[in-house]
This record gives sequence, structure tokens and C-alpha cells, in this order.
Amino acid sequence: MDIKFEKATQLKQKPDQNSLGFGKYFTDHMFLMDYTKGIGWHDARIVPYGPLQIDPATMVLHYAQETFEGLKAYRHKNGKITLFRPEMNARRMIKSNERLCMATLDENIFIEAIEELVKIEQDWVPSLKETSLYIRPFMFATETSVGVHAAKSYQFIIIMTPVGAYYPEGVNPVKIWVEDEYVRAVKGGTGFAKCGGNYAASIAAQEKAQSQGYTQVLWLDGVERKYVEEVGTMNAMFVIDDKVVTAPIDGSVLPGVTRDSIITLLKDWNIEVEERKLSIDELMDAAKTGRLKEAFGTGTAAVISPIGQLYYKGEEVQINDFKTGILTQKLYDTLTGIQWGDVEDKFAWNHEVKL
Ligand SMILES: *Cc1c(COP(=O)(O)O)cnc(C)c1O
Repeated sequence: MDIKFEKATQLKQKPDQNSLGFGKYFTDHMFLMDYTKGIGWHDARIVPYGPLQIDPATMVLHYAQETFEGLKAYRHKNGKITLFRPEMNARRMIKSNERLCMATLDENIFIEAIEELVKIEQDWVPSLKETSLYIRPFMFATETSVGVHAAKSYQFIIIMTPVGAYYPEGVNPVKIWVEDEYVRAVKGGTGFAKCGGNYAASIAAQEKAQSQGYTQVLWLDGVERKYVEEVGTMNAMFVIDDKVVTAPIDGSVLPGVTRDSIITLLKDWNIEVEERKLSIDELMDAAKTGRLKEAFGTGTAAVISPIGQLYYKGEEVQINDFKTGILTQKLYDTLTGIQWGDVEDKFAWNHEVKL
């Protein structure tokens, strides 16, 4: 791919690595590329980070044809910079885009664009323990029209933000509200696609949970409000007896890269994983009878987020005495260990960026 590079005339001062937070600072440059029906992708460029100018009739502003991805670049102790399974993000974005009738981007072009931007911004990949450079590729309809149809033009952009350790004081459990009114997704809808619209529809439940003192919601299926699907914007896993149970990927659940990696690790450790429907009644019952040993969400940002408490229809149950479980901690340590190059990468998940 031929990428034009316009260097920023003035580089920003890098933020203090101890107070990066999540998504507060953006690097000096961004990647952009345009798609025009009949021509294909063109004008790949890396330019100074800055505002976009868009026409008020730009279709994404009205009909939300928008998809995105999220992955990280990690700095290893030997200075090497790696991405974690970026081909999974590339393939998922194709699936998301197909669902939303948007242009798709070839897997290799997606990865090459990220690599080129990371190479230019390599000084932005932080080195402090458990920090990383979060990468946000996204695409949206740019055609100007107020008619409803698949747009004829799109823009693909990549921005990057250095992020701090998600758990500076160690991995900590959170309180979860089981949502039985609002739903996130239904089969046949866009639940499996990573699109902004799903998030817009989820905020009401999140606000409701937070106003009741809970960190996030546990989503139930959109038809019967019976089967557990995801926790906030993470996939959900439950250790019941000696098995790990998680919702199957069958249309309404987002196929997480972290989810897939955790399942692979568990199977490698000879721990049984069941990808099956799990009703909220079975889950609450397992919690009350002591069979629910641990519970956690999985996603790129936090990697693993332990669930310490569940609230459902007036009942509250504690999980593992509101402490991070042994298996949860081991999964977190192993996966983050692989990502930062401290644990053997036996599944060849790390993708080195040649600097
Ligand atoms: C992105 C996302 C996840 C987690 O996916 P990862 O690839 O592991 O980061 C889970 N659920 C939803 C709804 C998501 O948008």
C-alpha cells in the first residue's frame, strides 16, 4: 500500500505514564483512507492528528453506518513492540461491515495500516508496567445524502491513545446489575457486529445500573430476557463447579478476541469450557448454592474484570466473597504475561511490529 506521510510540524509533549487513564491523550498522527464506490480504497495517508471537517448531511450522522475495532500495542522489556492477534480484529471488522452494508477492508491492508502508524508513533508506546498504546480503527459512511441506503463512500481512520494500567492497585471485582428491562441485542440484529449503534442503545441501561450503585450491567437475551449474554461491553464467563460456562457466539453476542484467547488457555489447561445458554435462574441458583465459584468479563481494555456481586429482581448474591478468584487471577496473569512478553507465547498470538 502506498501511504502518503505528512509529518506534524510540532510534536506534542508525552503525558506522564503514571497518569495516562484511558483514552485521554491522542498521538501526533492519524491514518486516513477513503473509499469510493467504483474506485475502491484510495488516498491512504498519515497526517497530523486533528479535527475532521464533515458536511452536515454526511450519512453516518443520520443513519449510523459506523463500525470500529479496539486493540493494543505492547512494549516488551527488550524494546520489541507487538500487537495481539490483529488478524482477529481485521476479520471481525469485515463481518461488522458486511452486516452494516459498508465497504470492507482487506485483512492485510488493515494490519499494514496499523503497523505503519505504530512505527511512526513508536515513542508513544509506553513502557511502564501494564501500560499500552490503545489502537482505535473505525469506519463510517461519508456520502452526503438524507436518503436511506447503503452509502457509496466511506472513510477508514485509525487513531491511537496511550493507556495506563487498568488495575493500578491489582485486579478488583465489581458489582453488576442484571438488566431485565432494556436489551442490548437480538438474533438477526447487530449484536455480533462492533458498531457504534449498539453502544448508543446500551447507555440507558448503564446509566440505570450506575444510578443504583452498580458498575455495569449483565445483559440477558433480547427475546426471553432469560439467558445471560454479556457484561457491559465484555463477554461474560462463569466458573460453575469445575467448568467454565459462557454464552455461545450465535448472533447476539460479540465474538471477543479476549474471549477466544481465554477459552484457548482454559482448554490448554484441561479445564472444561461450555459454550451454551445459561439462564439467569440457573446462575442465581448456582450462586446461592455455592456452585458459582468465580465470574468475570473479558475484553481488550481490562483483559479480565471479576464480578463480585450480582443484583437481579431484588436479590443480591456475592461471588467468592467479593474477591478475585484464583482462576480469574491466573488467566489475567497469563494473558497479560503473554501480551507484554513475560510469558511464553505458545500460540503465536503476538504480532511483532518491525520498527
Ligand atoms: C469489543 C467488545 C467485546 C470484547 O471484545 P475483545 O475483542 O475481547 O476486546 C465484548 N463485547 C462487546 C459488546 C464488545 O463491543
